Amino acid sequence: MNHDLDLFRSIVNELMNEEEKEPVLQPEAPEALFNKLNIHLSEEGISDQEFAPLLKDLVLHTPRTATRRFFNQLFGGRNSKATLGDLLAVVLNNSMYTYKVGGPMVGVEKEVLKQSASLLGYPAEADGTLAPGGSMTNFMAMLMARDKAQESIRANGVEGSKMTLYTSKESHYSIPKNAAFMGIGRDQIRYVASDDHGRMRMDDLKKLIAEDRQAGFQPFLAIATAGTTVMGAFDPIEEMADICEKEGLWFHIDGAYCGSVIFSDRYRHLVKGADRADSFSYNAHKMLGTPLSCSLILVKDKRWLYESFANDADYLYQTDGDDYNLGKTSLQCGRRNDALKFWSLWKSVGTRGLAEIVDRQFELADHALQYVKSNPDYTVYSYENSLGICFNYKDIPADLLCNQLYEAGELMVGYGQFHGNEFVRLVTVNAGNEKSDIDLFFQKMEAFADKLSTSKV
Ligand SMILES: *Cc1c(COP(=O)(O)O)cnc(C)c1O
Repeated sequence: MNHDLDLFRSIVNELMNEEEKEPVLQPEAPEALFNKLNIHLSEEGISDQEFAPLLKDLVLHTPRTATRRFFNQLFGGRNSKATLGDLLAVVLNNSMYTYKVGGPMVGVEKEVLKQSASLLGYPAEADGTLAPGGSMTNFMAMLMARDKAQESIRANGVEGSKMTLYTSKESHYSIPKNAAFMGIGRDQIRYVASDDHGRMRMDDLKKLIAEDRQAGFQPFLAIATAGTTVMGAFDPIEEMADICEKEGLWFHIDGAYCGSVIFSDRYRHLVKGADRADSFSYNAHKMLGTPLSCSLILVKDKRWLYESFANDADYLYQTDGDDYNLGKTSLQCGRRNDALKFWSLWKSVGTRGLAEIVDRQFELADHALQYVKSNPDYTVYSYENSLGICFNYKDIPADLLCNQLYEAGELMVGYGQFHGNEFVRLVTVNAGNEKSDIDLFFQKMEAFADKLSTSKV
């Protein structure tokens, strides 16, 4: 093991040096790259002398998503305390289902959940769990809503369901996927229209629910998004809570992207009323910058977690009470310790430090937004309080620009669509970035784009 840990240090050192020198890699074609790196597995093993350089080569050819030039998705950066926590979780190799095998790590997970629930304003009966990603925490919320609305489904399955659920057109694609998984069906989703900021329109939500009731459907769930994937918009939480209460719907908030605003006194107002939701999920691996994945779901009344996820298993739950045997409320059986990395970060910087991370990302977003708004070469599609800055530069098609930047190994940034426009989407979720990194992004992009357009004529 020590020998391999030395190798680990040496690979990480080299990676970090290379990241400084070359923060964005030039992409290579898949099959050629796999062959070059000798990924192919064979009957016979190889010696350590051959293995070490091969592993190093593999690491060094992997896209550098932790550097300051990565703006492509809703995660990024490398927080060292969180990374340390995650490395130790791997070395310990616990599973989180029982206190017998998780020990104090059960306390670590419970503390992270309890403190999050309290920031959200949930009562003491609240609880939660972690799942491998925001898609899966959405899935858990949707299952609890289904089981609460129709108790017999867990035993008898779904039959000719007329159950309908409501979410905005801008919500995450895991919702239709999950609707299919859970036997409700994708076609039972009613997509509510959004306003020009990308926020769900309450008049349309009310109208769709009323139409469905009229037609004999059973509305059971509405899902708000706190930070839509493209526009970074926040659905109106208070008004949705009113509607859900009145209509008797489960109210879930998908905060995978921007739910971490609960840490900030300055930005918590963006989810004002979130304590009225039945469930709330957020990804610490997005705004807070822990390693992937670290997805939490909080449930206002823990009863629903047990109703949907507890199953007796005599071979597993042999000691301690349900409160310490976390397998009773999780999606998986064996479950990796995703809480330790978050706890390591949180413990070291405090809640105040997490608030600073959140605030800085909004500051960077504001910096970028002011820049594009004040420059006539840009068409701007986004608004204040969004971590996604959406724009086009000098009428260059966004897909062309982003793909060429990637091909040239200059910058990793993606494009999105909203209300019929396609644009570049710059995200400022990399907690390690500073204003100068945003400035450099625009400098590089503009220089590249100007070259691109002159070479075209
Ligand atoms: C990223 C995201 C998800 C999915 O989270 P994963 O951890 O990638 O599965 C769900 N909803 C929203 C709004 C997201 O931005």
